[in-house]
Amino acid sequence: MKTLVCTSPHHFGYTESEKPSIQPGHTLLKIQRIGVCGTDLHAFEGTQPYFSYPRILGHELAATIEETTAPGFKKEDAVTIIPYFNCGTCIACRRGKPNCCVSMKVCGVHVDGGMREFLLVPDSSLVSGEGLSLDELALVEPLAIGAHAIRRAAVEKDEFVLVVGAGPIGLGTMEFARIAGAKVIAMDVQESRLEFCRTKLNIPYTINAKNDVTAELQQITDGDMPTVVIDATGNLKAVTNAFQYLAHGGRYVLVGLQKEEISFSHPEFHKRESTLMSSRNATRADFDHVLASMRKKLVDPATYITHRVEFGDVKDNFNSWLDPKNGVIKAMIGI
Ligand SMILES: [Zn+2]
Ligand SMILES: [Zn+2]
Repeated sequence: MKTLVCTSPHHFGYTESEKPSIQPGHTLLKIQRIGVCGTDLHAFEGTQPYFSYPRILGHELAATIEETTAPGFKKEDAVTIIPYFNCGTCIACRRGKPNCCVSMKVCGVHVDGGMREFLLVPDSSLVSGEGLSLDELALVEPLAIGAHAIRRAAVEKDEFVLVVGAGPIGLGTMEFARIAGAKVIAMDVQESRLEFCRTKLNIPYTINAKNDVTAELQQITDGDMPTVVIDATGNLKAVTNAFQYLAHGGRYVLVGLQKEEISFSHPEFHKRESTLMSSRNATRADFDHVLASMRKKLVDPATYITHRVEFGDVKDNFNSWLDPKNGVIKAMIGI
């Protein structure tokens, strides 16, 4: 089978490898779609922490079943997978939080992923894609990250939710805040992305981060400020700034990740009785919520897919997706 390997930063190579053979408790998938995300781009650039080479990338997958003994699944069923392979026994797994397993192995990050014709996955990772298109199925995972952040924040109807960063993860987070009934405020430094939020996602409020953000937030929220702030930038300066945008009694959720220490004013944090939390990956409940939202047509995959290539052309196109000028939200590989 044809496989695309990221051999070292900035280098891809196509190789021929053996089709995996079926093993107990596992399902053999025929890969159909692979969504490309920031993690893949950073791995290619060589800026992804804790990443080793060579590695087969790809964790946003739509597939059909080639061979399985998993109950409820049969050959040719369309599926996606939960790519966070967890241990099942650690403290987080035992307490229903496999998304932050102590020995997390993310498919396509810590272990080889789906940029190949066939992939063997644990039966427990399978998610039925009945009634959904392959494009939709390949978008479930990145959207589930946003859905998880909204669930972590316990977003309620009619509260103001500020999402900082309008990249793919930020956009998904905004969608699920909207689906939860929140009044969503989008913030970014790029006007084109804010325009996208207004026209494609119907986000009622947008703020350019270069403006007087506090004044604009006060105006939008009638002086209250947003009760939920979510960072989807993974940029230290943006993460630090956003502490001051939080309403008294508010929650601040970090979805984006950066490498430095974060510091903030304890008195400012304390007087608000703020809650600070991170949001990592997603759980099956989040995947189910995304699938249900897609089936109700609350999310349109066409919103996200800006670029399409065939598997054989990935090597030649990958570099161009790193360039912000090309306006990539989601590049989708067909295989
Ligand atoms: Zn991803
Ligand atoms: Zn675990």
